[in-house]
Amino acid sequence: MAKTDYYQLLGVQRGASADELKKAYRKLAMQHHPDRNPGDKAAEQKFKDINEAYDVLKDEQKRAAYDRFGHAAFENGGPGPGGFGAGGFGFEGGIGDIFEQMFGEAMGGRRGGGRSERTGADVRAAVEIDLTQAFAGTKVDVRVATRVACDACSGTGSSDKQAAADKCPTCGGAGRVRAQQGFFVVERTCPTCGGSGRTIRNPCRVCAGAGTVPRERNLSVAIPAGVEDGTRIRLSGEGEAGGKGAAPGDLYVHVAIRPHPIFQRDGANVFCRVPLRMGQAALGGEIEVPAIDGSRARVKIPSGTQTGDQFRLRGKGFSVLRSTQRGDMYIQVAVETPQNLTKRQRELLEEFERESGGTASGSPEHEGFFAKVKEFFEGI
Ligand SMILES: [Zn+2]
Ligand SMILES: [Zn+2]
Repeated sequence: MAKTDYYQLLGVQRGASADELKKAYRKLAMQHHPDRNPGDKAAEQKFKDINEAYDVLKDEQKRAAYDRFGHAAFENGGPGPGGFGAGGFGFEGGIGDIFEQMFGEAMGGRRGGGRSERTGADVRAAVEIDLTQAFAGTKVDVRVATRVACDACSGTGSSDKQAAADKCPTCGGAGRVRAQQGFFVVERTCPTCGGSGRTIRNPCRVCAGAGTVPRERNLSVAIPAGVEDGTRIRLSGEGEAGGKGAAPGDLYVHVAIRPHPIFQRDGANVFCRVPLRMGQAALGGEIEVPAIDGSRARVKIPSGTQTGDQFRLRGKGFSVLRSTQRGDMYIQVAVETPQNLTKRQRELLEEFERESGGTASGSPEHEGFFAKVKEFFEGI
């Protein structure tokens, strides 16, 4: 496809002055900026094209090459002068810079602004949820102190409907000022207009020209099932409004998970410590345990179960984020020694002890242990 002539793209004559070029570019760039045309592919392409055209024509050397050779000046192996003949020129990387130079604060940048400051500020919020909510996923209401577009001026910052801004008197609209520093002339962002090259003649009285006003917002945030403690959820575009045509910032929601009285979590696995009566542990049987999903599960306990023995319930753990996998649930048994015995219980246990051959120093099962104890004391 043949490329459109750069002058034609910007709608200017071939002999257009730098000022005329800039004006034409600014008007078109504002009109076709992706933030103003979300999802519009044609506008996005047009925006790229006009940036490419302006990037060439604003540069005296590139413009001269373009005037002589046309688009061929910037194609591979083209006759263009060294420097941008090979590999074309890097317009993709330059686009943000051009735009920033052109609009600076007008696109939401702050004074002395870097790239990230062209948009509205990011907003942070913190929520605390239960482990069971982290298991199932949930929705939480978040209240954030933020800035929204000013209604009075539709976010432009100007009380005038048409002429929103004047050329900045300090920099004459360039957005940058020059200063002599020793042998060098240094250029820096204009302190009056913050690089936008424009000052608002009649600032909006509601927002004092900012284009945004502070407000509390209530948002419902979806927390996905399987979320981990400390996860940060990003809600693109839900931060502070940029004002004056800039994109809004993002909202970051920090998720903390409250400790649970019954369940402990380790990654996708969940652990539950279950007390077991001495008799149950010795005889074996089936016990009912709670699961993190709110259901009940039955676990077979073999006879002779000891404290610390672990039983796995496959797939009863947490969902693994962005996966269909599920973790497991582990039942950890703690055998309880009976306390406050009834008379009958005492009799039975005494009988049990006699049956076990128990003495003050232990039962036959422990003979090995006590032999080792004896050895230990003799060795001192
Ligand atoms: Zn306003
Ligand atoms: Zn200025």
